[in-house]
Amino acid sequence: MRVPVLGLLGRPGQRKDLIASVPPEEFGDEPWGPAVDTMQGEIELDLILEAISGGILVRGPIRATATGTCARCLAATSDTWEVEVLELHRAVAEAGDEDDGGDEDDLDYRLVDGDRQLELDQMVRDALVVGQPVRVLCRPDCLGLCPTCGADRNTEPCAHGAERPVDPRWEALRGLSLPSTDPDDGTDHGA
Ligand SMILES: [Zn+2]
Ligand SMILES: [Zn+2]
Repeated sequence: MRVPVLGLLGRPGQRKDLIASVPPEEFGDEPWGPAVDTMQGEIELDLILEAISGGILVRGPIRATATGTCARCLAATSDTWEVEVLELHRAVAEAGDEDDGGDEDDLDYRLVDGDRQLELDQMVRDALVVGQPVRVLCRPDCLGLCPTCGADRNTEPCAHGAERPVDPRWEALRGLSLPSTDPDDGTDHGA
């Protein structure tokens, strides 16, 4: 997806809104990783393009919806996620003064078409792939399946007692084992 920026570039402080719903295909067909396979509907851009010295700053939220199965109860569900971007797209004509082709170049986005257009494909893909939720839940407090009888605890209470599921924000810590920090373990703590 390309956006003309001729009226902006070189006029620091000038802004333009970019509010659009765009099908994922518009951002190119390079592999996106697992994100694109599950993408549903359009990607929503709610961006501000701002001219600054040397390029165009793009910032604001990008939203996308993925379909999948709930990691706890396996029901089909979908999840919308939002990523906040803040990325400089440098003018090619003015780039390269302060860095001499170092690694830093790879981190930049560049204007295209002789600095006349913003190319959003890579930026949007990068943002969504990195920001995609690792696991989808049908709802934050999904009770999941009973490990004993397989009943869906959201709909059919069974006889095996329901532990409250761990808050999803902490779930990643379950597998974590920390070294002992017992203060009496003989290490020197100073006087
Ligand atoms: Zn669920
Ligand atoms: Zn059960």
